[in-house]
Amino acid sequence: MSDELRKIDIPKRDLPKKFVEARRRRSGSAYGCVVCDLPIPEPKFMCHVVDGGGAALHVGDEDRYVPDDGDLAFLPLGTDCLRRHPELKPYAHKVEPGTFG
Ligand SMILES: [Zn+2]
Repeated sequence: MSDELRKIDIPKRDLPKKFVEARRRRSGSAYGCVVCDLPIPEPKFMCHVVDGGGAALHVGDEDRYVPDDGDLAFLPLGTDCLRRHPELKPYAHKVEPGTFG
């Protein structure tokens, strides 16, 4: 294996359960942030989650990625979590308004 894909372990952030549940009640079935699990109905950033959920794929390696069983596709990344984890920036796809959902 010469050209390893660049991936990053997705950090986890535990928010108070009550807070997440309250947001969940308001946001229905929206997907949760990959870091903190808060539902994000209109995500501004998405991560391509691979390896069954633990890792995100580098934006620059998208065209070399071959989907496998661990491909969980694109999930939201909250702007707050991105700010707290600047190391995730190269792994965050910017969502153009109106293209998702
Ligand atoms: Zn988050």
